[in-house]
Amino acid sequence: MNNEERIELFYKAGMKNPWCSGKAAKDNGDSIVEEDRLNRKSLVVLHSLEELIDFFKKWHSSYTLGHGVILKDICFIQQIPGGDEWLCLSMDEGKKEAKPFESWTFEKWVKDGSIGKLMTSLVITPHEERLKWNYRKVDEKKLFRCPRCQGYSCDYPALSRGDNRTDICSNCGSEEALQCMMFSREDFLKLFRSWKG
Ligand SMILES: [Zn+2]
Repeated sequence: MNNEERIELFYKAGMKNPWCSGKAAKDNGDSIVEEDRLNRKSLVVLHSLEELIDFFKKWHSSYTLGHGVILKDICFIQQIPGGDEWLCLSMDEGKKEAKPFESWTFEKWVKDGSIGKLMTSLVITPHEERLKWNYRKVDEKKLFRCPRCQGYSCDYPALSRGDNRTDICSNCGSEEALQCMMFSREDFLKLFRSWKG
């Protein structure tokens, strides 16, 4: 997927949001032209997690409405002129569609220095898990990385059935339960060791 295709996908998904598309401003009686809201030129593709973290450190609360950044399969678009209200969009693995999963204010995270950890978590977490994120519930102290899928989660962890003491995310807990039914104990333990090392 090249940069133009990536921008096109997030542009289309972002235009469904009334703030990004300028519809909310128009309904409010404000005149707004294409350059003032989300457009194909207002999204910039970044190349690394470091760039993304730096971006939010500098611009989290002073970015133009409809402008935003993309890193791989995740995109953030400013919903308020010069505000700090970011529409967060995630692209599915098949690269067919992008969906909004949050509207996030990053001020607190930048101020207390946890923006790096938060962005890392968001970027690493798989699409399906991202869609379940709720920023009001995301507590930096509770964020833990699941050793089985490498994704981050704030859900209460489950114990792996491989050794009954390793914490894994609840999704992986359900997957393991299924594997235990499908495979012999011996085969299940082989799978367990393949990620546990
Ligand atoms: Zn997991």
